[in-house]
Amino acid sequence: MRNMIYLDNAATTRVSEGALEAMLPYFAEQYGNPSGIYEFATRNKKAINRAREEIAGVIDCNPAEIYFTSGGSEADNWALCKVAELMREKGRHIITTKIEHHAILHACEWLEKQGCRISYIGVDEQGMVKLDELERAITRDTILISVMTANNEIGTIQPIMRIGQIARKHNILFHTDAVQAVGHVPVSVRKCGIDLLSASGHKFNGPKGVGFLYMRNDIPMSSFIHGGGQERGRRAGTENVPGIVGMGQAIKEAARMMSQRAKQEQRLRDYFMNEVLRRIPYARVNGSRRNRLPNNVNFSFQFAEGESILIMLDAKGICASSGSACTTGSTAPSHVLMALGLPEELAHGSIRFTLGQDTTKEEIDYVIDELEKIIAQLREMSPFYTELSGENKK
Ligand SMILES: *Cc1c(COP(=O)(O)O)cnc(C)c1O
Repeated sequence: MRNMIYLDNAATTRVSEGALEAMLPYFAEQYGNPSGIYEFATRNKKAINRAREEIAGVIDCNPAEIYFTSGGSEADNWALCKVAELMREKGRHIITTKIEHHAILHACEWLEKQGCRISYIGVDEQGMVKLDELERAITRDTILISVMTANNEIGTIQPIMRIGQIARKHNILFHTDAVQAVGHVPVSVRKCGIDLLSASGHKFNGPKGVGFLYMRNDIPMSSFIHGGGQERGRRAGTENVPGIVGMGQAIKEAARMMSQRAKQEQRLRDYFMNEVLRRIPYARVNGSRRNRLPNNVNFSFQFAEGESILIMLDAKGICASSGSACTTGSTAPSHVLMALGLPEELAHGSIRFTLGQDTTKEEIDYVIDELEKIIAQLREMSPFYTELSGENKK
C-alpha cells in the first residue's frame, strides 16, 4: 500500500495513542451511567470530572464553567442562540466577522430570521479583523461580540485580548470560536476577558463528536437541551463518557507538548512555504505570516484551479484541502479568501496544507516536488499562462 501524506489537520486529526487507550475501557467494561448512585456509575462521573478539570486547567477557568457538547458546531450554536435569547430585553445586535466558520455564520443567518441584526466585520488583506470597524459597530443594542481565535482556512490568529478589552469596556459579552486554537497555541479565558469559548476534541487529537463550551459562571443561561439534569441542568443527555475521557487525555497531551510541537511544525511549515514560493512562480501565501497557527499554510496559484490541484495531489497520496471541509464539493470561492479581497480567480486557486506533529521533512520534500509538477501541468493547459510566459521569455 502506498503511504499517505496527511496535510489536512485543520479538518481533523488522528486520535492520539494515549487518548485511544484512555477511552477504550469506557465503551464496554465501564458502561455505567454517570448519573447512577452506585460506585460502578459514580466512577464514570469522576472520570468525566477529571476531564473537566484537565480542560479548565488548560484554558485557565473553573471546571464548573466547562459544558460538554457534541463538538465545536454545537458549542457555537449554543453560545450564539442562547445569548440572543438571554439578552433579548437588552438588545438584538450581534457583532461577528466575515471570516468565521459556518457554524457561526449559519447560526447568525438563522438569528437574523429571528429578528436579530448582525454586523459582519471585515478583515484587512492580512486576514486580521479591523478593530476600529468592530468598535464603531457597537451600539446600545449590542449584546454579543463573537470573533474566532484562529481561522480554519488561513490560520490567522486574532488579537483576542484586545477584542476582550473592547467588549469589557462596552459591557458586552464576548464569545470566541477557539476550535482551531485550543491545544495548539496558549489560550487563557481569564487573561483575554472571554465570556464564552467553543472548542472541539477532534481538532487536537481527541475523538470526533465531542467538544465543549466554556461559559463564565455568572451568566444566567437557561437550559440548552431540555431533559435530565446533566451538565448542571444546562445540557441534558447521558454523557458521551468515552469521548469526554478521550478529549480530556488529548488536551492534557496537547498542552504538555504544545511549545515543542509548535516549534517543530512551524520550522517545517516555514521551509515548505519558502520552498514553494521560491520554486513555483505566480504563487502567494494567504493570510498574515506573523499572526498565524504554526501548522497552517494557505497558497494561491494563479492559472491553476484549486480543485484540480487537490485531485492531482490525491492521486499522489497527498491529502490537502481547498478552504474548509464544508465548502469542498461546492464551486463557490471561499468566503474567507473573498474577505481578504482576493480576486475570485485566486480564491478559486487556493490550497490549504495543515501539518501535524508526525509530518516529516521527507514528506514535505515529496509534496513540494509533486506540487511543482502538478502546477506546471495545469498551467500548460491554461491559455492565459501560456500567453503570459510567452511574453516574459527573457
Ligand atoms: C472544525 C471547526 C468547527 C466545528 O467543529 P466540529 O467539532 O466539527 O463541529 C467550528 N469552528 C472552527 C473554527 C472549526 O475549525
